[in-house]
Amino acid sequence: MAAVMRFVNRSTFGSRVGHQCLSFSCSAAVAKSVQVGASAGKALPERVKIVEVGPRDGLQNEKTLVPTEVKIHLINMLSEAGLPVIEATSFVSPKWVPQMADQVEVMKGINRRPGVSYPVLTPNLKGFQAAVKAGAAEVAIFGAASELFSKKNINCSVDESLQRFEEVTKAAKEAGVRVRGYVSCVLGCPYEGQVSPDKVAQVAKRLYRMGCYEISLGDTIGVGTPGGMTEMLEAVSREVPVDALAVHCHDTYGQALANILIALQMGISVVDSSVAGLGGCPYAQGASGNVATEDVVYMLHGLGIQTGVDLPKLMDAGAFICSSLNRKTSSKVAQATCKL
Ligand SMILES: [Zn+2]
Repeated sequence: MAAVMRFVNRSTFGSRVGHQCLSFSCSAAVAKSVQVGASAGKALPERVKIVEVGPRDGLQNEKTLVPTEVKIHLINMLSEAGLPVIEATSFVSPKWVPQMADQVEVMKGINRRPGVSYPVLTPNLKGFQAAVKAGAAEVAIFGAASELFSKKNINCSVDESLQRFEEVTKAAKEAGVRVRGYVSCVLGCPYEGQVSPDKVAQVAKRLYRMGCYEISLGDTIGVGTPGGMTEMLEAVSREVPVDALAVHCHDTYGQALANILIALQMGISVVDSSVAGLGGCPYAQGASGNVATEDVVYMLHGLGIQTGVDLPKLMDAGAFICSSLNRKTSSKVAQATCKL
């Protein structure tokens, strides 16, 4: 992956996430979290909304086909752990994504907890209509900040993809359904290499203007560093209000928590993450994908930031899905506290 490797030498900002060897129990680990929010230097939000993407973004990138009842149980465990938003599934053709072929059964099978949102991915109008029929009250659409990524993934230019999404946002407005927008490749592209912060800002602005209430900025291949994150967020927040922004970091190069901390310092209070770090990185063999929700929650609670998430319950959900998939957790917190 030459395009990805080029970023290695650019990574001049090292992560300062400290290492703690935790051989004690999970609850002890939580209790030992240091309250450092007040002295962290820059103002941090008091509360952060975590958008759990494991059941969709995570499982979609897992090779093993997951039984529907396992997905439903995972989603229920996540809502019981206090996660306010859980991306449940995707209304794409089963021909393209066989893992999500049971989208209707999943939507019908979950216990919908009051106050919890269950957005689903809808790449086009057909997907949107099917999602609404299955009871979705919130959907998500996906734009890329890189032309080549857009061409290779959805076979159209960024502009064409945005035009297609306008049909979805228009229909959503009429149906009273909320739309979340994703921008992928915001800190680098597997085909183009560097992505201009201005291009990210333009795509984010268009999604916001067409009615997305929140724009999630995705470092899809996890090459970003705190330096790149700062530059990109400065450009995007000139076009979109910061309270309508979220970050979606992958941990491929071990920079996710550092990048999230930068985003918090810049006023962002919505963070996407995936339980147990579900989902590999399709562009770097064997590399980790989404940042693990357990690790994000541990950091946030250590900063004195509220999430409403019960970390031990969340870790139980991570242990459940890892044993179902027969895979090791990618969460450092879960590894440190011996939960698989
Ligand atoms: Zn992701």
